Amino acid sequence: MTPQAVRTFVEDRLEGYLAELKGLVEHESPSGDKGRLDLLAGTIAERWAGLGGAVERVANDSGGDHLVGRFFAEAPGRAALVVGHFDTVWPVGTIGRLPFRREGDRLYGPGVYDMKTSLILVAAVLEAFAAHGLAPARPITLLFTSDEEVGSKTSRRLIEALARESAHALILEPPLADRSLKTARKGVGRFTLTVDGKAAHAGVAPELGANAIVELAHQVLKIVALNDPAAGTTLNVGLVAGGTTPNVVPARATAEIDARAVTIAGAEAVERAMLGLTAVTPGTRVTVEGGFNRPPMERSPGVAHLFAKARKLGEGLGLALTEGSTGGGSDGNFTAAVGTPTLDGLGAHGGGAHADDEHVAIESIPERAALLAALLLEI
Ligand SMILES: [Zn+2]
Repeated sequence: MTPQAVRTFVEDRLEGYLAELKGLVEHESPSGDKGRLDLLAGTIAERWAGLGGAVERVANDSGGDHLVGRFFAEAPGRAALVVGHFDTVWPVGTIGRLPFRREGDRLYGPGVYDMKTSLILVAAVLEAFAAHGLAPARPITLLFTSDEEVGSKTSRRLIEALARESAHALILEPPLADRSLKTARKGVGRFTLTVDGKAAHAGVAPELGANAIVELAHQVLKIVALNDPAAGTTLNVGLVAGGTTPNVVPARATAEIDARAVTIAGAEAVERAMLGLTAVTPGTRVTVEGGFNRPPMERSPGVAHLFAKARKLGEGLGLALTEGSTGGGSDGNFTAAVGTPTLDGLGAHGGGAHADDEHVAIESIPERAALLAALLLEI
């Protein structure tokens, strides 16, 4: 079976791929560093062009450039969109503290798991296709962005546009801890609440003031009451600030809120409730800004269907694929929300994302390359 051949192909060349991965990890690329991101984009673009892709570098003034690579344009039908990112959460210099290293079956290093190994997966699969003369079921569009770790503000439109023109989206984020693919993700919202009151001398004329912190306390409790864990809706007031000094009635207080929801309807309900908050304390005014910057990735019938196909293909590779959901967001939230069936968590297995022990299980690299190959060849 051909995806098995891809696994063997990658196993036979594993040392070379690990050397390539070392170079990618050692090229540090935090989300905010345009210089480094653009340099890395150049390296990746060259690699993709060498694999026969038509590479488009999407210029980005307010961050690193994004990369689109189109392969097998002559194949029938709409493309399979393969999505990843080459930014990491790690500041420059982390590699000095956490060098790329191999310990047993694990590779350690900043960004190795989330998600530079995914760059190796796509390169290995395309090389294997070329070596074996394999043609995918449809054209392949690779999209690697530079700002996933900071909310994909500059890549969102591009992601959505490519998702709309594609048959389905395969997201190369890490799988769940038990290797399950991700077929649902919560949406992620951010809100800032500001209370404006009126300052006054706390000893001489407190009655002339309107206490913004007291009003904020009312609002915090209203927000906490919006939690509905059974429905998958959670809100966290994670940051508050207010006042100037103890003997002044505070004129201003603020809170920052993280919100998560499982369904688009749930996210809309949270937005309506948050943006509709009004003051309780006379003389104060409440303003709320924000919204869901990642819509929920719902397990739609299209998603379920795509997973069922993947599970069947996994059987052919000796893999018992399972699925699960997560409260964290990814660019899969955007591809799913425009109606494109999306399968997430297709990256290599490992652990410690965004943590010092970030690592990848080496044996999962050929396995995940074979799975990605099967999806591209058969669906
Ligand atoms: Zn990631």
